[in-house]
Amino acid sequence: MLTDLHMHSFFSFDGKSSAEDMCISAVDKGIGSIAFTEHYDILPTWATPDRVDNRTEYTACDKEAYETILSLKEKYTGKLNIIYSIELGQSHHDLEASHAFIDAHCFDFVLGSIHQTRYGNYSDYYFLDYSKQNIPELMEDYYNENAQLVSSGILDSLGHLDYPIRVMEGFIPYPVELKEYKEAVWEIMKLLVSRNIVLEINTTGLGRWFKRMSPEPWVLELYREAGGKFVTVGSDTHSAEFVGFHSSDAIELAHSMGLKVVASFVNRTITEVV
Ligand SMILES: [Zn+2]
Ligand SMILES: [Zn+2]
Repeated sequence: MLTDLHMHSFFSFDGKSSAEDMCISAVDKGIGSIAFTEHYDILPTWATPDRVDNRTEYTACDKEAYETILSLKEKYTGKLNIIYSIELGQSHHDLEASHAFIDAHCFDFVLGSIHQTRYGNYSDYYFLDYSKQNIPELMEDYYNENAQLVSSGILDSLGHLDYPIRVMEGFIPYPVELKEYKEAVWEIMKLLVSRNIVLEINTTGLGRWFKRMSPEPWVLELYREAGGKFVTVGSDTHSAEFVGFHSSDAIELAHSMGLKVVASFVNRTITEVV
């Protein structure tokens, strides 16, 4: 079975397709299981990011999102498994707000990720000017934030480990090799396993400048060495066109490394693997 457990519909501030169009695309492509992981970024209350506040945006439509997903689940029964989910950013920045948000919803799957940190003055990595950044320091901070995120425990899979790479074209060498951060990455892998959180293989990069999935295969090896058994596969697409982007390649990679791919979560628990 092909899976895509990371996608954004109109219910995310930057989504470009309706949830139903994404379901239609998934069925057309033979994808068996998808998760709508809309954006919800946690920031310290005093931080003022220079971007759309997607907490407010999602809060304004979360009832509609839930009802839409429920009706699509029913409509596509037997054709497509649809998982009600969220991409919760930086949960460790405000544990109380994160727990309150998760407790107020009945997500079957929580994808955790880092989009912005104090280091970048709480601006998304997408908006930083890399000619003015100390990149090794920024990456150290990024991995450190990922370790704190995993320690928060408010996630089922860790999304797009090495997200800043997407927007660093011209500022780091190609092909991208991040082995200098091996120690920091190893700590994250151990934390994942100790907290029963899985790692995501994110396929977006195959369509970006760095032309590879994230993370690199040596990270998957470390994950397995730490005791990791499962991964999720996600396209991180914001439009119907790219639902299931390179899902079969990611699943093949996972299997070649001795890892199983999670096909479904119910009530934050793995219920099906491929
Ligand atoms: Zn993300
Ligand atoms: Zn995403």
